[in-house]
Amino acid sequence: MTTRAVTASGVTTPVAAPQRSVTDLPKAHLHLHFTGSMRVATVRELAAQHGIRLPASLTTEWPPRFETADARGWFRFQRLYDAARACVRGEADMRRIVREAALDDGAEGSRWLEIQVDPTSYAPFVGGITPALEIVLDEAAAVSAEPGATQVGVIVAASRMRHPLEARTLARLAARYAGVGAGAVVGFGLSNDERRGATEEFAAAFSIARRAGLALVPHAGELLGAQAVTETLDAIAPDRLGHGVRAVEDARVLDRVVGDGVALEVCPLSNVSLGVFDRAEDVPLRRLLEAGARVALGADDPLIFGSRLADQYATARVAHGFSDIELADLARASVAVSRAPSDVRAAAERDVAAWLAKTSAPAEPGGRGLPPTSAEAPAHGRTDVPAEHY
Ligand SMILES: [Zn+2]
Repeated sequence: MTTRAVTASGVTTPVAAPQRSVTDLPKAHLHLHFTGSMRVATVRELAAQHGIRLPASLTTEWPPRFETADARGWFRFQRLYDAARACVRGEADMRRIVREAALDDGAEGSRWLEIQVDPTSYAPFVGGITPALEIVLDEAAAVSAEPGATQVGVIVAASRMRHPLEARTLARLAARYAGVGAGAVVGFGLSNDERRGATEEFAAAFSIARRAGLALVPHAGELLGAQAVTETLDAIAPDRLGHGVRAVEDARVLDRVVGDGVALEVCPLSNVSLGVFDRAEDVPLRRLLEAGARVALGADDPLIFGSRLADQYATARVAHGFSDIELADLARASVAVSRAPSDVRAAAERDVAAWLAKTSAPAEPGGRGLPPTSAEAPAHGRTDVPAEHY
């Protein structure tokens, strides 16, 4: 099968023919936000249903471009995210989001999804943070039993924009639902603008989560550099970092990330969209791996960035020249650093080996070998992004 890459100038150029479908590659998805996971068609339907007018960036001008990682770019991102979140008005909407995320992820080879949710945002519509979380967990368990869906665990995420005491409340809630496998809380996170709030003030919340056996997965090292990574390692001793890519800015910090065994949830196309790096080629994926870091690729917010999970693997192939063996290693790492239960791990491990053992699928004359992974093709104009990646 021939793959083509669309360059920044819009020129389509052939690149090395991929041998295997990245969609078929079994993997785990560890960085996906609840609202940001929504299909763009879904947010439009919910907006119409609730009589909400969406910004053009979610309608005629989708997907948006932010260009800069400065406060203005983040503000625009946050405003769009808030606009999407405002369309989620109750239990049915929440269940739909979990369900579609599980089915869409499953269609892209995901065997295990850790979806990140801050129940505070939806609490007003369902009677509090406890019912909000229970709805997400209940639907996660239900959809995980369906054919074609990935298995869904849940990460409860506190926001840096809110008081650290609220984070402690959320951590206690997360701890009550801690468990193993689909429909359980498996981790505790900290999200939103890294430049807001002092990381150490959230340490007490993470201590509660740690005692409950949850994975500690705060965001750090995306909008801020290596110093923020150090502060997070000092304050929280996380299992993984959301992003963490800017640890590369200081070799000693990266060494510490590796030495401490902290995995990185790298979201290449999110980084490019938000201007953390100019082009997909600039995301330091190889440098992180060469330094010994364990990396799990994630999509972050497909609704806002216009790219889903398989697109991240396609980018590793197209922008970074990853071989199929290297892609298989990435997929294995994503499972290894996840909280997937042992049966899911074993099946994924076995099926990654089977994926590698497969020879190249012959291209169908005049068409794609496999159907697309989602209704919307990845549309990402400013860098080299795979136009076809199946
Ligand atoms: Zn994120």
